[in-house]
Amino acid sequence: MAIFVYAENINGVYKKAAFEAVSYAKAIADQAGDTVTVISVNPTDSSDSLFKYGANNVINIKDEGLKNFSAKSYAQAVNEVFTGNTIVFPHTTDASSIAPMLAIMKNYSLITNVLEKPENLSPFQVKRRAFSGKGFMHAKADAQGVIVTVSQNAFGVKENPVQGSEEIKELSIINDDTKVLSHEQSSGKLDLKEAEVVVSAGRGMKGPENWGMIEELAGVLGAATACSKPVSDIGWRPHSEHVGQTGKAIAPNLYVAVGISGAIQHLAGVNSSKTIVVINSDPEAPFFKSADYGVVGDAFQVIPALTEKIKALKG
Ligand code: FAD
Repeated sequence: MAIFVYAENINGVYKKAAFEAVSYAKAIADQAGDTVTVISVNPTDSSDSLFKYGANNVINIKDEGLKNFSAKSYAQAVNEVFTGNTIVFPHTTDASSIAPMLAIMKNYSLITNVLEKPENLSPFQVKRRAFSGKGFMHAKADAQGVIVTVSQNAFGVKENPVQGSEEIKELSIINDDTKVLSHEQSSGKLDLKEAEVVVSAGRGMKGPENWGMIEELAGVLGAATACSKPVSDIGWRPHSEHVGQTGKAIAPNLYVAVGISGAIQHLAGVNSSKTIVVINSDPEAPFFKSADYGVVGDAFQVIPALTEKIKALKG
């Protein structure tokens, strides 16, 4: 039986997290001697980008009623075409709200935030992130089928080109009565959740008038900007930039934290980043314990100097 995977797209264009989920599904399929079937809703991207990561079959759901995201309707749509006993979702905001609904519809086990290939397939057992990234656990599925969400940047995107096929499935799901009251876009040019590099700043910046240097550093690094919770609470930065336990959870390749103390609630949203650089004037700031690289210094001196150095390096 094929290993299924849900490939999320934004306005029809596949996310990097979708390729990571397909790569993960391919690893399970290889373990099980199976194939990979991708489910996608209203994509505009070519399925070739999915074949590259090991998708043998792509089911493209076409449904005008699913133009706007609704977890319930999307779960219904996926439920219509998912006929296997294993499905992989990326651990994105949207996909991780579809997965539990599908788990209820199918009466399957749900294991979120998985980090590695399964340790065992029958019963399905896998290592997952727990306690907001402060620990790990080994979870075992106890139902006939299993739904997993893959923690972003944990498994990685792995090319595994195959000759795949595509089928179109026309559906007409009745969209539920969910109303979108507000949909705040990130103010930056780059989508924070998708960005490979993020420059983030906290209360150490003293005021919103000082964010020019953060934006300039982000500009030379090709980074998105983020901030700590109090910074968005006081209105220095938009809420769309707030990262942490109660904000966005991100997992870029590089996270640069400027004037942020590193409270546990902040770390909960950023500690999946591959490399963390902390710039803080207090050598005792807790963030240094989680940093790969640390600079003890005044941000008002370090950031302009760093930006100039990077500009010079880039020629
Ligand atoms: P501060 O703690 O005030 O730290 C400022 C830092 O800047 C200090 O380390 C200081 O040494 C440094 N600094 C000062 N001047 C300079 C300078 N010139 N150069 C360099 N460094 C300097 N927080 C989040 O961020 N995200 C969340 O999702 C979140 N959720 C929460 C949920 C709950 C239920 C609770 C109770 C709290 C939550 N918090 C969250 C708040 C969190 O506990 C911290 O209060 C917050 O992260 C602190 O923000 P900060 O680091 O910007 O500010």
